[in-house]
Amino acid sequence: MVDWGDSGVIQVEQLTKTYGTTTAIRDVSFQIGRGEIVGFLGPNGAGKSTTMRILAGAIGATSGEATIGGLDVVGKAREVKAMVGYLPEFPPLYADMTVRSYLTYAGQLKGAERPAQAADRILSRVGLSQVAHRLIDHLSLGFRQRVGIAQALVHSPKVLILDEPSRGLDPAQRVEIRALVKELAAGDVTVILSTHVLSEVEAICDRVLIIHEGQIVTKGRLDDLAGTQVSLTVAHPSDDLVNRLHKVEGVVAVQDREDGRYIISARSDIRPEVARAAIDAGLLELSGGMNLEAVYLEATAGT
Ligand code: ADP
Repeated sequence: MVDWGDSGVIQVEQLTKTYGTTTAIRDVSFQIGRGEIVGFLGPNGAGKSTTMRILAGAIGATSGEATIGGLDVVGKAREVKAMVGYLPEFPPLYADMTVRSYLTYAGQLKGAERPAQAADRILSRVGLSQVAHRLIDHLSLGFRQRVGIAQALVHSPKVLILDEPSRGLDPAQRVEIRALVKELAAGDVTVILSTHVLSEVEAICDRVLIIHEGQIVTKGRLDDLAGTQVSLTVAHPSDDLVNRLHKVEGVVAVQDREDGRYIISARSDIRPEVARAAIDAGLLELSGGMNLEAVYLEATAGT
């Protein structure tokens, strides 16, 4: 029976995959709860696609176990595929089909109720209506990527596994796809997505998994992991201000960029305290926010 309980919609236990003498992933374990959006990060070759392929039932693991909704992704492959939407690294699109006929076909394969209507619904949701009658072969990279995303969504899956969903999209299209993913998660769809765009993770993810050389090196809630980088500009810079900034709890560095501008790095969101400390110095501007970059670079340092 499908279990959408609190124990984790996606559960991965000590997954290992070897290709000949290459160990692509080793002892990978994590859990993802219902409605969570988890960002899967790591350098090229770290093992993200391999993990996602195993979860989606596209390849088997060498050892370990993965379940979705409590069902084993190998033993219950058919049931799992029916509830999972998967955007592979290279979606197998049929070049000589139109977008609408391809999505209808994908809906049929995945067991969507009324595949033609499901295809029409997803066409407008993913911003493909204007190219519905075009051949996939004639589409730009951005539209092809959206067709890949649409085929993952056509059967209204409860779980989404998206391997670099923003690849090939321009900034406006990225914003649209992010909004769509957030909306789906708000409706209790569980999402794991890989990306190289850290700002995307900061914008939409609840939690982060960082994989390096086949092993999970960091995992946690974004709020707990990410530091903050704040840019502060004041009218009256002084050593006294720098001292006060250093005393704010969580601050790890204060860089003086001259002309009253400071860059402050911290472990937590220190903007309110910085504003208070800077008010007497003639606060002119305070900007910035979460910064995952430092966490990512530290976790994936050294090869
Ligand atoms: P990522 O998605 O993080 O870039 P991958 O999961 O694609 O990483 O790859 C992890 C490792 O497994 C890499 O060393 C890669 O070369 C290797 N690998 C992936 N797929 C295959 C395959 N089909 N045959 C042999 N090696 C592979």
